[in-house]
Amino acid sequence: MIINRQETEQLNTMLLNSARTVIVTHMRPDGDAMGSSTAMYHYLKQHTTADVRIVLNDRFQHTLDFLTEGPLVQDMHIFIEDSKSATDSIADADLLICLDFNAFHRTDNLCPLLESSTAAKVLIDHHLYPDTSSFDLIFSNPEISSTCELLYQILMAMPQIGNDATRLPKETATSLMTGMTTDTNNFANSVYPSTMLMVSALLGAGVDRDNIIDKLYNQHSESRLRLMGHLMKDLLSITPDGAAYIILDKKTQDEYNVQEGDTEGFVNMPLSIAKVRMSILIKEDSGRLRVSIRSRKGTSANKCARLHFNGGGHENAAGGRLEIPVEAAAEYIEKHVHDYLIEEDEKND
Ligand code: 5GP
Ligand code: MN
Repeated sequence: MIINRQETEQLNTMLLNSARTVIVTHMRPDGDAMGSSTAMYHYLKQHTTADVRIVLNDRFQHTLDFLTEGPLVQDMHIFIEDSKSATDSIADADLLICLDFNAFHRTDNLCPLLESSTAAKVLIDHHLYPDTSSFDLIFSNPEISSTCELLYQILMAMPQIGNDATRLPKETATSLMTGMTTDTNNFANSVYPSTMLMVSALLGAGVDRDNIIDKLYNQHSESRLRLMGHLMKDLLSITPDGAAYIILDKKTQDEYNVQEGDTEGFVNMPLSIAKVRMSILIKEDSGRLRVSIRSRKGTSANKCARLHFNGGGHENAAGGRLEIPVEAAAEYIEKHVHDYLIEEDEKND
């Protein structure tokens, strides 16, 4: 993708003129949300004079801890742990950098703070249908692997970097590689020619990919792997129209001591079965059901999430929520996903 030069110049001016810049991302931040946030943070610390903070709604999974090591921790405020610092940081900001989400409601508790903020707001994101009215400057491209890849292209266009990845701060390079790795499911999905060009440049700049892979994928608990076995063997259902679903209730989560992030990646697995075209993971979470949806090309996880699960996301990776008892989830999925797939088939006929 070609980044618009006028817009990167405008962004550069905004970054250089800000005294207090706050970076925000979506609730339950994943690797791309955290990677783009810490990448931006380290870039701004090196290349601007602003006071830079990261404000999160809630904490990220432990596999991402390596991104926030060092002095950055003092500049990171998590709303559900310290609402005052999070609120004050956003209220005092003169510039808000919004990463990896398309509308304020995706930040949960931060939403009203963002709405009432008078700061200039920049969006850098790759989700469908950005809420354009909320932002002053928008970099949005749904046809890109990750927000990290889009941010990489923006940073490369900055005069301070001059299209030379070796001039990125080391932590920025590591963070960008991390988000791109997790959002492509370790380069299994959404890989574009530009994705590999960025990987090549970042490896050339000295990013330790082996270490990133070890941190992301090989530091799990024993109980997580045993849970995965249980889910795939005992709890996976497949409907006649090729929808796979798994319902993970609270009781099973307690039994296997499930921590935030432990189920990351599980929803993709049923798509390895030839007849499965959509896969759904339902997780009971403080009285509600969290929904993760993945689909094969030709079936829209995004549309299904928007129409039936109060959510959205990308074409083949989306999510949402349901306000029904966990006991009613199987019937709900069987009915709504069947209706959805039938309708989609009729449209394609
Ligand atoms: P995951 O299944 O990994 O939680 O989410 C997959 C994708 O769906 C992510 O890009 C995420 O932004 C999006 N997504 C997840 N939950 C929701 C939701 O409740 N609402 C919307 N609009 N998008 C969601
Ligand atoms: Mn993303």
